[in-house]
Amino acid sequence: MFNLPGYLRTITLTFFAVLFLVWMGCEPNQYTMEDFSKVEKIDVHVHVNADNPAFLEQAQADNFRLLTINVDYPDFPPVEVQQKVAMTWKSAYPDRIAYASTFYMTGWDSEDWQQKTIEHLDSTFAAGAVAVKIWKNIGMDFRDKDSNLVMVDDPKFDKIFRLIHSKNIPLLSHAGEPKDCWLPVEEMMVNGDKAYFQHHPQYYMYLHPEMPSYEEQMSARDRMLEKNKDITFMAVHLASLEWSVDEIAKFLDRFPKAVVDIAARTGQVQYQSSRDREKVRQFFIKYQDRILYATDITQEVNGDVNEFKQGVHEGWLSDWKYFVTDSTMTVSDLDSSFQGLALPAKVIDKFYRINSEKLLPGAWNKE
Ligand SMILES: [Zn+2]
Repeated sequence: MFNLPGYLRTITLTFFAVLFLVWMGCEPNQYTMEDFSKVEKIDVHVHVNADNPAFLEQAQADNFRLLTINVDYPDFPPVEVQQKVAMTWKSAYPDRIAYASTFYMTGWDSEDWQQKTIEHLDSTFAAGAVAVKIWKNIGMDFRDKDSNLVMVDDPKFDKIFRLIHSKNIPLLSHAGEPKDCWLPVEEMMVNGDKAYFQHHPQYYMYLHPEMPSYEEQMSARDRMLEKNKDITFMAVHLASLEWSVDEIAKFLDRFPKAVVDIAARTGQVQYQSSRDREKVRQFFIKYQDRILYATDITQEVNGDVNEFKQGVHEGWLSDWKYFVTDSTMTVSDLDSSFQGLALPAKVIDKFYRINSEKLLPGAWNKE
């Protein structure tokens, strides 16, 4: 090309410059259903509890990375087993999965609970844990030796939270329950909650007025955050404020370092958008750096592998349709149809990937 006469060289360079600009302009403003498997995505809240690779295989097929979260939950295998499963998949699929550890409340009343918890968490960090989960058993279930419920703003936790912060590890908090848990069935927002709480009366707080109210659960979490404003904090399940995007917005404004995941609360967002789509759409655009895509999909130890894969794929696809397109759609959580949010591609990239990468830098490494 450098042997070309000057005018031809100018024409050639201009041609390539124009081509480059056209290519830049081609970056999509909007994704489609066809982009689903092409776009890199992260589901930042799942529970991989089985020792078969079905979840990882489906994640690979659908271009997802995962954060599997250990929880001290009686329906799950013991925390040590969950951690072992997570580590197995981490070594088999290092760039596909990362894991969050947790700690037991057992021994809370003994002198050395803090020390033991710190040692346990340190060992999980050494084993590769990239976040720590605190669960709703704090505030809703665990009682001290005097039978008082231990709330999350208890000063005994502060040393633990400081340790986590000092290691630059994010704290993932599940505080309380969806507001539906405190409401009569006919006032609940989504069908999933109606079914769950009717079948689990022991967890249905509407039937247990002796337990702390919804507001008390939210204030305990907020007081804890007031004390620990500098920690990196993800309030899972839309900070349990899923019933109102205005309330989530207030929470995010009040705690500028906090982010939220949408795990298992997409139905409540769809409910609100079926009433005021533009309001919900603007909420996602305004807080595009603070909301993380997640599902809470749990792989049971003994589930049917093909059925599970199919379910995961369909769930991810339905969410993609809602956030990416403006199609009219239905989901089992709602009785009527509603329209997708058709969020801009740049917002989708943040929601589905970039915000999680920022929260957990290096979590999905190649080694
Ligand atoms: Zn979960």
